[in-house]
Amino acid sequence: MKVSLEELLPYGSWRTGQKEIAVKVYDTVKKGSKLLVEAPTGAGKTLATLIGALKGAKEEGLKVFFLARTKNQALTPLKEAFNIARKGLPLRVAVFRSKKEMCVRNEAKMLNYEEFIEYCNFLKKEELCKYFSKVMTAEEAELSSILGGYESPLEAIKELRSHGYCPYEAFRRWGAKADLIIGSYPYIFNESIREAFLNSLDVRLRDLILIIDEAHNLYDYLSEAYSETLPLAYVKRAKKEAKKYLKEEYELYVQVMETLTGLERYLSKLRVRQEVSKSQVLALYSDVKAIEEASRLVALRKREVEGTPLCYLKRVVRFLKALESGGKEYLLISSPNEVGPKLTLQCVLPSVKSSEIFENSRSVILMSATMPPKDFLIRTIGIEEPVDEVRVNIEAVKRRRLILIATDVTSRYKEREESVYRRMAEYVTSCYDALPSSSVLLVVAPSYELLASISRNLRGVEVIEEDESTKIEEVRSRVLSKLENKVVLLAVAGGKMVEGVELVEEARSLIRGVVIAGLPYPEPSPKVLGLKRLLEEEVKSGREAWEGAFLIPMLIRVKQAIGRAIRSEEDRAAILILDRRALDKRVMKELRELSEKVMTVNDLVRVKNVFKTFLGGA
Ligand code: SF4
Repeated sequence: MKVSLEELLPYGSWRTGQKEIAVKVYDTVKKGSKLLVEAPTGAGKTLATLIGALKGAKEEGLKVFFLARTKNQALTPLKEAFNIARKGLPLRVAVFRSKKEMCVRNEAKMLNYEEFIEYCNFLKKEELCKYFSKVMTAEEAELSSILGGYESPLEAIKELRSHGYCPYEAFRRWGAKADLIIGSYPYIFNESIREAFLNSLDVRLRDLILIIDEAHNLYDYLSEAYSETLPLAYVKRAKKEAKKYLKEEYELYVQVMETLTGLERYLSKLRVRQEVSKSQVLALYSDVKAIEEASRLVALRKREVEGTPLCYLKRVVRFLKALESGGKEYLLISSPNEVGPKLTLQCVLPSVKSSEIFENSRSVILMSATMPPKDFLIRTIGIEEPVDEVRVNIEAVKRRRLILIATDVTSRYKEREESVYRRMAEYVTSCYDALPSSSVLLVVAPSYELLASISRNLRGVEVIEEDESTKIEEVRSRVLSKLENKVVLLAVAGGKMVEGVELVEEARSLIRGVVIAGLPYPEPSPKVLGLKRLLEEEVKSGREAWEGAFLIPMLIRVKQAIGRAIRSEEDRAAILILDRRALDKRVMKELRELSEKVMTVNDLVRVKNVFKTFLGGA
């Protein structure tokens, strides 16, 4: 292919570090290897990565699969791909959102995702979906007239719907010849979705260059995606199904009822969140194959009589099969909650499943502004050496950050009390007072409880506080409505606001100050303790295992929060950490990687003055 990397650049010149990323990605694709790309937000890493990957893929006859975590995060690669295409690289791009979301049929909304997939497969098999049939019988030119020049996936989906096409199936047909596929994580990381999806496109993992955006979330995402739950409510509903649809097979019915009654009794007694013994649950039944056969009969009869693909006995079977096959990487955890007790088969080391994806793909490129250490990724998600790394623009951003550590407070659980919350609130007020007008102070706490405790002690400041129901879209308009002066945005670490809210005006971040109100170490939950135990078995080092389970996740959350304040090459941010545990040498080492100026403080006036001086130059 004649066109050079430079010629594919849609804008005048490379930003700092962009060319380095594009070259590294291109080399990675040519070698068929793996790469970690770390660059701060605003560095243009998506564009640079796509330029390198698409050029390499075109030359090698491969496809690029860009995995975005959310719908909004899929828009940037789409926009950049079209910009690249305009520079002389003809591209066919297919975008996949959740199939259920793309479905035209109203009844899809009533079903959960699994039920929906079964329902859709059933309709397609029986040729009962006219939207599917229309795609299958359409001429290529008809689809091209809609998908050949779309700029927004939403518009394309609307247009396909208005012409009576199933948008998902239309994009799937289009995707079979696409150079770039943009989709969410499950399209690759969910085994059954991946197989069906790639088969339908007639591609194999070895034909794909995977670009995984927001890779710092991958461990958490995979450990949840590979877990299974069994709520007591499902067992009770499965019993009702068996009573209604299985009585004709008396022996089978008795066997299934014994198993379900045993599970019901066991689940009803769960009172605390803790790791429980797998063998106790496995002892409640003897033959999962017989129960599976029963679930097949129940599902069939229920569909005939009630017209629904929903079968709770099938869900029970799925859980039991996962329990039987799950090795030590899976823990069984009980959790009683408001809607009733449940068992979770929690995947603690997703590498057990995800490593084969990385191994079998032609190339893998992980991108993040806060990339976890390579060793952590190797141990937890199973990406294997050789893994190359490119980290750009880190030094330039370091100069634009100031970090203060308050030595007279901590969010350590044992020391939490009203006087600590009051002191934290006073520090927040000092930072707020130092902020220039029309700006935001982001305050991030490890939990909603701590956030509320600080909030009730705040006086004389404008506050927007995140709770479990807060919607990201609303936060932005609320912030802008209060911006004549300035505003404190209270958010929880690792929550949707810190991960998703984009407060940028005229290419500058509105967040000028960040307060980390307590280092957000993960709670010592059964899952986190399980991870620590497994890492310890593997690395034979208690210190390294603790770092993997507690320190690294905490640092990712801190870096994510701090990263919200630097969205362009002009932004500067003053940061205050309200936790003396930051003085630990392992934490200090990381903080010095984030800022050239790391100082300790213990008085409010100094915080205000230092913030003012630093931000005054902004
Ligand atoms: S084929 Fe398309 S429109 Fe029909 S049920 Fe499936 S997703 Fe919905």
